[in-house]
Amino acid sequence: MTHSNSKKGFVYLIGAGPGDPGLITVKGRDCLAKAEVVLYDYLANDELLKIAPKDAELIYAGKIGGEHNREQSQINELLVEKALSGKVVARLKGGDSFIFGRGGEECEALVDAGIPFEVVPGITAGVGATSYAGIPLTHRKVTTSVAFVTGHEDPGKASSEIDWEGLSLGSGTVVFYMGVRNLPQIAANLMAHGRSPETPVALVRWGTRPEQEVLTGTLADIAQKARQASFKAPAITVVGEVVKLRETLRWFDNRPLFGRSVLVTRSADQAGEFATKLERLGARVYSCPTIDITPPVTYTELDAAIEALESCHWVIFTSYNAVKYFFARLSDLGLDTRALCCTRVCAVGPKTAAALLPYGVRADLVPEDYKAEGVVTAFKNLDIAGKRVLFPRGDRAREVIPEKLREMGADVLAPVAYANITPADIPAAALRALEEGRVDCATFTSSSTVQNLAAILGDNRFLHLMQGVRIASIGPVTSKTCRELGLEIHMEPDEYTLDALTALMIEHFSAPGQ
Ligand code: SAH
Repeated sequence: MTHSNSKKGFVYLIGAGPGDPGLITVKGRDCLAKAEVVLYDYLANDELLKIAPKDAELIYAGKIGGEHNREQSQINELLVEKALSGKVVARLKGGDSFIFGRGGEECEALVDAGIPFEVVPGITAGVGATSYAGIPLTHRKVTTSVAFVTGHEDPGKASSEIDWEGLSLGSGTVVFYMGVRNLPQIAANLMAHGRSPETPVALVRWGTRPEQEVLTGTLADIAQKARQASFKAPAITVVGEVVKLRETLRWFDNRPLFGRSVLVTRSADQAGEFATKLERLGARVYSCPTIDITPPVTYTELDAAIEALESCHWVIFTSYNAVKYFFARLSDLGLDTRALCCTRVCAVGPKTAAALLPYGVRADLVPEDYKAEGVVTAFKNLDIAGKRVLFPRGDRAREVIPEKLREMGADVLAPVAYANITPADIPAAALRALEEGRVDCATFTSSSTVQNLAAILGDNRFLHLMQGVRIASIGPVTSKTCRELGLEIHMEPDEYTLDALTALMIEHFSAPGQ
């Protein structure tokens, strides 16, 4: 006898970690990447959903219509139903599934239905949020034990299931989950059972995320402080002397750009590096690609120029994309770097120079001034009259280089090597942040990033959404375009690099009152 030919489903119960998407385990990520159905919770970071295959069915198992929680029994049924239909199901839960996550109940339902499963542990909020708040849960000199406790228990209950006496005596660290609403009772209970009113307490909200908030006090005053600050869930409450260590061990929420929301408007393929740099400095980055780079409409010009390479004295690359598309075409034509044997190479900016290295090309000239004008100045000292210069460029490049070099008597070939396309929209998350006035700073790294953003949003809406947003521009040309579009410039570095721009942003936002 054979079994039914439908494949058998499987459930991975995956701990998503406390919020920072980097805090899922390698195994959790691998399992998520295999999922056909993902059932995810409110506290699991949405970013992680990108790991799931594009065609996976994503089901939100948190609040429905923003009001009621889906009943746990409904979630169990859905898990069973999806698995029985033969699917690989990832159940993605905030923190760890077995710590106040009802993962145990979900597994019981799977066992009852005979569905195989695996549990992938996650970093629970009590561990993750405290680490990111600079609070070690144990410390050899301070305490030897830690307890995780639910703060959700109905405070009106006549007899508590929580061992308040046990938690209050000694020096053990106590971490309450879901305890913000009951904070006054929690503090009162601990003090009533013998814990000193002076005991330090920290509340950590949205721990490990860019919006992490920490409030510290003592058992005696924390409830009042939380009320005054309108401190809300989700937060953990840490009670114990270890909280004091935050004063020296704080490392995350004191980063120079922590709590700042920054719009990165580069092209999708170039934004990553800049975004990562800003995130490491603590910023929350809203990616807002304003340019898509595509191959040119036609290769006729570029092919003709490549054919004429031997007669060229110089090739000028002004961007990473120029390098990428030039060499891609070279390869398509059956050629390689040796085609550049007779030419000298100029790279504008260290990034462009670095982009050439994988092709075995070390630039002969890297002008100190990264603008087109810098290239022109550099060539003034070289005798290029009567020489041929190849300048593979984007379809929207300024005419400065070809014009000025021609004035110096050079024969300039300036074929279009790649095209810039303006996307139809900006990502929903970026738009929402702009509409809600949550963006502190917008970065523009070329004129086209500003022009395109204005074009995508429409001029009036663009100006409206940019109200109150600090503008960081990479250099004078970009700044000029910004001003023409009605923006005021708040940051413009002397050197036109992302590093210099980043350094200036740190300086700007560290200034008192910013
Ligand atoms: N299974 C989860 C806990 C779910 S209970 C875990 O292991 O972390 C929900 C509670 O977890 C919240 O009320 C809050 O107390 C805590 N919590 C979850 N994520 C948090 C975060 N990023 N920062 C602070 N507390 C968090």
